[in-house]
Amino acid sequence: MRTQVAIIGAGPSGLLLGALLHKAGIANVIVEQRSAEYVLGRIRAGVLEQGTVGLLDQVGVSTRLHREGLVHGGVELCFGGARHRIDLHALTGGKTVTVYGQTEVTRDLMEARAATGLATIYEAEGASLHDFDGSHPQVRFNKDGVTQTLDCEFIAGCDGYHGVSRQSVPAGALQTFERIYPFGWLGVLSETPPVSHELIYSNHERGFALCSMRSMTRSRHYVQCALDDKVERWSDDTFWDELRRRLDPVAAEALVTGPSIEKSIAPLRSFVAEPLRFGRLFLAGDAAHIVPPTGAKGLNLAAADVGYLARALAEHYAEKSDAGIDHYSQRALRRIWRAERFSWWLTSLMHKFPETGAFGQRMQAAELDYLVHSTAAATAMAENYVGLPMEW
Ligand SMILES: Cc1cc2nc3c(=O)[nH]c(=O)nc-3n(C[C@H](O)[C@H](O)[C@H](O)COP(=O)(O)OP(=O)(O)OC[C@H]3O[C@@H](n4cnc5c(N)ncnc54)[C@H](O)[C@@H]3O)c2cc1C
Repeated sequence: MRTQVAIIGAGPSGLLLGALLHKAGIANVIVEQRSAEYVLGRIRAGVLEQGTVGLLDQVGVSTRLHREGLVHGGVELCFGGARHRIDLHALTGGKTVTVYGQTEVTRDLMEARAATGLATIYEAEGASLHDFDGSHPQVRFNKDGVTQTLDCEFIAGCDGYHGVSRQSVPAGALQTFERIYPFGWLGVLSETPPVSHELIYSNHERGFALCSMRSMTRSRHYVQCALDDKVERWSDDTFWDELRRRLDPVAAEALVTGPSIEKSIAPLRSFVAEPLRFGRLFLAGDAAHIVPPTGAKGLNLAAADVGYLARALAEHYAEKSDAGIDHYSQRALRRIWRAERFSWWLTSLMHKFPETGAFGQRMQAAELDYLVHSTAAATAMAENYVGLPMEW
């Protein structure tokens, strides 16, 4: 089997890269270790920056997104028993975010890919990457018990944090940076209407809470929990009671509860690997970096990475220029570190940290007070939340 670009992983970054490359006339094959149903079953991100929507527009897979997505012009910060709105739209000169689940983005990209007839090899086991330092890279994997070889010109490692691509880079060629937060998020998905029409981020003495949604009938709520907590310890009623306690009285009253459809605990981590290019291998998305979900940046960063990478590869093939490829790592990392900073900052501002004590809580209260009463501070938050521009 032969192609121009072998893409490892059919998550949002791999599928979007495949669509962008196809649009540029570049052949690509995706190698995914799981089944399509498994990939679609993962409940993850839900807030899309305008730049991400723009990339989906570019590849023609945004019809349903524009029909069903919820456009938000603000977010609410809840602390001291009251809510304060950050007017994203007014503070950023008209920018918004769109609430549309990662599952739906993935489904749209998968369906569009199937319609073009591009190859996606699902349930490809034991993928290994070869000769990406030379001029004839290869991906080998097992499919239905048969070892297959995919010859290619470039490999895009879009296989998430636990994938094989980053692990294939020789030790010593990679520098990593990491922060593990001393808590996790317990998330519950339910067929219930949202508490408010925009997201509510709550800083409470019992811990952080987030009220978000996937549609006007489906909600996704989170509460900060201990790192070693177990889902089994949380009945639906315990979860709803805890969430209600962490909201202001009006939001607590408006909270509609119902049976959970999905319940899971996710640890919070900041992680970056540098650089993102090793010869003919590129890393993109969660394979290269992780952000805590507080700033809703993970999926958006993945989209921006592949936006840079697709343009670099298009330049290579169409204009015979390697300038984009040579600058991919530096260009993407600049944006990645800015999003890492914002995600770390919002996480630090909104969560209860066991080690910072009463002083840390007073600092958070002072910063939140400043944030909602200073146009400069609110603008800084708003422009990061809607997404910093992609610089070329
Ligand atoms: C529980 C949870 C909640 C999240 N919530 C948010 C949120 O609210 N907002 C936000 O912006 N982001 C959120 N994120 C982050 C967001 O989901 C990710 O940033 C996004 O999925 C990254 O996309 P990706 O395609 O780079 O990686 P992934 O989605 O991880 O996709 C990687 C793909 O590669 C495949 N793969 C892995 N190893 C191999 C291999 N060896 N061979 C072949 N295929 C392989 C995997 O099966 C997977 O399909 C959340 C993440 C998690 C885990």
